[in-house]
Amino acid sequence: MCTMSWFYHDDQLELFFNRDERNTRSKAIPPAVYPSSADSANNINSIYAKDPDGNGTWLGVNEQGLVVGLLNHYASMQQPISKQHLPTNAPQNAQFISRGQLVLDILNTPKNQLEQKLASINWLDYQACYLLILNSSALQSNAYKYIWDGKTLNHRPLPKIVSSSALSSEGVVGQRIKQYTQANPQTIEQHLAYHRSHLPTKGPMSVCMHHTEGQTQNLSHISVNSQQVTYRYWAGSPCQTEEYSTTCLKIVPEAVPIP
Ligand SMILES: [Zn+2]
Repeated sequence: MCTMSWFYHDDQLELFFNRDERNTRSKAIPPAVYPSSADSANNINSIYAKDPDGNGTWLGVNEQGLVVGLLNHYASMQQPISKQHLPTNAPQNAQFISRGQLVLDILNTPKNQLEQKLASINWLDYQACYLLILNSSALQSNAYKYIWDGKTLNHRPLPKIVSSSALSSEGVVGQRIKQYTQANPQTIEQHLAYHRSHLPTKGPMSVCMHHTEGQTQNLSHISVNSQQVTYRYWAGSPCQTEEYSTTCLKIVPEAVPIP
């Protein structure tokens, strides 16, 4: 359950993300700069908040300006396809790798190797999901929604608004898109207002989501231009949280391949 919107202006990418989660899930560790994992061949710093339950993240940006976000694909979430290499007595949930690890894995990829990276992933290791990948630079912004439905991987241009919900998905998602279309946000402040909004009413339908078992747990705003990446983070319900943290990274140009 989450809602993401984005726009591009003056050679700068702006992305907003409401993270909706059960109240029982551990509170996320606010964004910080992390280096690539020790076993990685690449040396790329990224900013992300950590989900202590999966030790991964749902959203991050690396120092090359690559933004990766994750949403559940509720309609296609299913029982794991049994894996030959796992012992038959393996716990059920051991058959999938946490999708939050997938985000870290992709953040760890140089932008010019993204296509090869996506082609090399064994998608059957992961539950169905939407991956939002925005490959921005001063001159262009390539944004795609990758749809892994548990069987096949497709991608299409990323809509300006993407939402997913475990609660009667169709109605909730349709309502959030309708509210976005009506609000028609054009600026950073207007996007933030949308992500804090309670239209049509405060509850499971609203973008700032409230439900007896869960709610929007935090709000992220990522800006990327040719100089730096800025990640602002409100660690609470967007309608009630004024204070935010700011984490920055200088953009590091991609290494030029040695001929
Ligand atoms: Zn609210």
